[in-house]
Amino acid sequence: MENKQVIETLKEVDALLEGHFLLSSGKHSNRYCQCAKLLQYPDKAAPVVKVIADKIKDIDFDIVVGPAMGGVVVAYELARQVGKPGIFAERVDGVMTIRRGFEITKGMKCIISEDVVTTGKSFKEVAKVLEELGAEVVGVTCIVDRRVPNAEIPYPLYSAVQLEVETYDKDECPLCKAGVEYVKPGSRNIK
Ligand SMILES: [Zn+2]
Repeated sequence: MENKQVIETLKEVDALLEGHFLLSSGKHSNRYCQCAKLLQYPDKAAPVVKVIADKIKDIDFDIVVGPAMGGVVVAYELARQVGKPGIFAERVDGVMTIRRGFEITKGMKCIISEDVVTTGKSFKEVAKVLEELGAEVVGVTCIVDRRVPNAEIPYPLYSAVQLEVETYDKDECPLCKAGVEYVKPGSRNIK
């Protein structure tokens, strides 16, 4: 599957919307991406996640770790495709933690699996907890790489697709200036 096909699949399931959006950060954008909309269809998600699986096939690693919530399903599917265990990390009182009896041991090589990478904040929190347990992070994967300028990604990053999303401060939004009404993703006026 090529970049174009991944984008077509994302659009087909409304995981990628084009238009004028008010993001939770308060910024406006021309695109909105919600990978959960793709992951609800295992048969459509599988070929997209396979793009990632193919990119990491020569990497030596032991386990896939996804940050909850966004990384849980994608980590499961990636682990299934590569035949390795897949677990998730979750925040407890705001602190990323490995719970539920999942074991990370010293020297374990980990792939962190996310749905979307923007600033890299959540995978960095996962990397921190893994490294504190003596594990090594050998790479980060995501379905959509829509990293913001200046996002520091201190690990190799493997994505199914790279996507440019223009974001604007509301006073400088060209879509507002053009009189286009915005929608707030997650609210009822959007599927
Ligand atoms: Zn706007």
